[in-house]
Amino acid sequence: MQQEKIWLSSPHMGGNEQKFVQQAFETNWVAPLGPNVNGFEQDLEYYLDQNVFVGALSSGTAALHLGLILLGVKAGDEVICQSMTFSASANPIAYLGATPIFIDSEKDTWNMCPIALEQAIKDRISRGKKPKAIIPVHLYGMPAKMDEIKAIANQYEIPILEDSAEALGSSYKGQKCGTFGDISVLSFNGNKIITTSGGGAIVTHTKELKDKAVFLSTQARDNAPHYQHSQIGYNYRMSNICAGIGRGQMEVLNAHVGLRRKMHQFYMDFFSTIDSVKVLHEPTADYYSNHWLTAIVLESYEKREALRLVFEQANIETRPLWKPMHLQPVFENSPYYGTSVSEELFTNGLCLPSGSNLSENEQNRILSVLNYFFMK
Ligand SMILES: *Cc1c(COP(=O)(O)O)cnc(C)c1O
Repeated sequence: MQQEKIWLSSPHMGGNEQKFVQQAFETNWVAPLGPNVNGFEQDLEYYLDQNVFVGALSSGTAALHLGLILLGVKAGDEVICQSMTFSASANPIAYLGATPIFIDSEKDTWNMCPIALEQAIKDRISRGKKPKAIIPVHLYGMPAKMDEIKAIANQYEIPILEDSAEALGSSYKGQKCGTFGDISVLSFNGNKIITTSGGGAIVTHTKELKDKAVFLSTQARDNAPHYQHSQIGYNYRMSNICAGIGRGQMEVLNAHVGLRRKMHQFYMDFFSTIDSVKVLHEPTADYYSNHWLTAIVLESYEKREALRLVFEQANIETRPLWKPMHLQPVFENSPYYGTSVSEELFTNGLCLPSGSNLSENEQNRILSVLNYFFMK
């Protein structure tokens, strides 16, 4: 008989989520506003520190879309984006009729390469168009090289839209990911470090900008007794039910980051004696990853596929790394700057089960597959 499926990353409830959802029902706040929305935003603002303002939205993708709008991106503009990422980092650029300019990864964090970033900016400017925004991503929770990226962004005066969808709970030089951008974005999709079933947030450094995001997310209704609109609006606000789940999840965020980091250490220990496998790890003490997913790189594509299939046979989910956007058919006409770092990571890389809720029995099943495959 097939054993139960082990997932890469599945929702992990803390216990109080239903209490907040129940309160929403009892007070009839079953709408895209209410006390849980305000409470969840306050929890996030307190957690992120840095005097930020948080607007809870229906998804991380919606937050990226509104972020680009608030940064003034329009049809025909160019926006720089990390190539190795989930498509949701880049799709909102296309929603606006703008062109994504993709940037390779560097080898330490697998995130946006500052050298390729500067080359791209210089080249795009020399061709007559200065990019309107830069979207770095903290892949699998690993902070990007924010000092270098920010220095370049400042030099060329281009705002940063920080995609921190995978990195709530991570920090860089003691500062929380999700606070580095001119605007930053979080996701609470079902597989993320915390979930609201589906949801996201926009993080700003002024109340005015947050208010503008919330205004746009609630159909851009002007102040009038009737429905009056002077701008195109969106239906992107988070519901009070989902925000209730989020409030419960915030109570266990730190504990769950601890458990993900423990899973990462579990893999680090296993692979410490296997030279042919590299585990994505914190390059220096400046980087603190929530280790949302633990990712490894094997010596070849064949080896990677073989391991993936052995896991699959044991009913254990693993997944190749994000396929870079510049290799995606839908973005084949977009410019790309860099070499083949992200391409090699994609070819040889695999994400391993990393949930904060993996039982000892499940960890043992994973370990026995690894022992078998690497003949330990
Ligand atoms: C999940 C994710 C998003 C999108 O968030 P949703 O809430 O699923 O819309 C954006 N960027 C990255 C890197 C992600 O992993």
